[in-house]
Amino acid sequence: MLGIREHKNHQVRGGLQIDALPFDDIQVAPLPSIAHIPIDSAAEITVSVGDEVLTGQPLTHFSNHAVTSHASISGKIIRSATNIVSIESDNQDTTYSHDHQQFKNNYKAFFRSMGLVGLGGAAFPVDKKLNSLQATTLLVNAAECDPAIYCDEALMQERPKEIIEGIRIAIEAIGASQCIIGIEDNKTKAIQQMERNLPNHIKMIRVPAIYPSGAEKTLQRLCNGKTGSLKDNETICFNIATCYSMYQSVKKSKPLISRIVTIVEKNATRNLEVRIGTPLTELQIAHNIQTPYSIICGGRMMGWTVNRDYCVEKRTNSILINTEVQKDARPCIRCGACEDVCPENLLPQHLFWHASTPDTSKLQDLKLDQCIECGCCDAVCPSHIPLAGLFNDAKLLIQQEKTEQHKAALAKIRYEKHLARQKEKSVRQRKQLDTKTETLKIASASEDAKKALIAKALQRQKSRQHQKNKDLSESNKKPGQESPR
Ligand code: SF4
Ligand code: SF4
Repeated sequence: MLGIREHKNHQVRGGLQIDALPFDDIQVAPLPSIAHIPIDSAAEITVSVGDEVLTGQPLTHFSNHAVTSHASISGKIIRSATNIVSIESDNQDTTYSHDHQQFKNNYKAFFRSMGLVGLGGAAFPVDKKLNSLQATTLLVNAAECDPAIYCDEALMQERPKEIIEGIRIAIEAIGASQCIIGIEDNKTKAIQQMERNLPNHIKMIRVPAIYPSGAEKTLQRLCNGKTGSLKDNETICFNIATCYSMYQSVKKSKPLISRIVTIVEKNATRNLEVRIGTPLTELQIAHNIQTPYSIICGGRMMGWTVNRDYCVEKRTNSILINTEVQKDARPCIRCGACEDVCPENLLPQHLFWHASTPDTSKLQDLKLDQCIECGCCDAVCPSHIPLAGLFNDAKLLIQQEKTEQHKAALAKIRYEKHLARQKEKSVRQRKQLDTKTETLKIASASEDAKKALIAKALQRQKSRQHQKNKDLSESNKKPGQESPR
């Protein structure tokens, strides 16, 4: 599936060539008997154990700080905890009717109320992305974010009109004057389907089928290489499935309660439309597979391992059954293969060297912060060194160090202020003591001596005032201004 790309054939360096593989069309997964719905930790849950809910019914209060969660099936609430609500299905799938009057002309609040998040994998709330006031360009990401994921390609092949309607809604929500769709050039059928329905004002740009073309930063760079019109702070990027969910929410009043998930098993690749909260055990996954195996969510290159109790979330774009046994890492042989494939022009072998020490200052010099953790270097390393994972750990270490340094700088400022306050206090106390001593001296002296002491004190006060005035006029002088002769 993956091979080192030929540099001469493409305008950009790095990355891994992706070969198109056959996959099944979208099938609808059976209704789960139970759904465990993840809840935003900032949200306030509105349902209690024993309540009956309908499909699409909000489970949390509408709030400015949290994306609303919805019941993905109808049935009875059997658990209501801080971060999860579990529903036992009544097998009826009766739909809740939404009233959108309060969100008229307010896309941000509407999308938040419909539970919309980015479906490319990061699950960043859609309404937060819309907060960018300067955005004038919508970049639609139609390049899969991983070589083993086909859910967006299948969606474009089967529901292009709905996606394009969703893109039109996104353009309106952003107020964008330009829209570009970036798509990998090996998605022939999806390109045909989309182009057949595409209006003139939306431009489709083919980018090389090279992983990680679907990474937002890389896609923007690739598209900008062809148009020159995508400025960093003026571009908002939405995944193709996110645009589809905008269509469903606006035109069908359907909140985000399901998504397309690519299931990759040994002999087949399927695309299933799955209700959010469906347990993996209900998807007939990993049956008849010999151990050892691991279940990886989020793609072959950047995914994370889950266990059999995992339930589908809004960010679950793929589930992969991995039967390959992880090979033990061996020492780096300095072959340079990792450097050849890095799309960010980094030096992974040098980064590895300094991440092992670790030398955070050298890592920063080598621009570790620009690593997008795509895992291309891992994929080609003959020593099986888990480079991207090490780089992620090193980034966390640098972040920790920066937080510590920031805390230390704040503590230093606080200590210096404390010292200055102490000094001021002791000067004040000394002055008060001097005054008191003088008053006592006067009180105990004879009349003539009293007069002399008072005169002396007045004289001291006068000369202090004179010195103060002189200092003040010196400090008010403009630079370079001479004293009048
Ligand atoms: S690919 Fe692996 S062995 Fe080769 S230089 Fe990079 S880290 Fe070392
Ligand atoms: S994980 Fe980082 S260093 Fe490795 S290829 Fe990707 S961007 Fe380059």
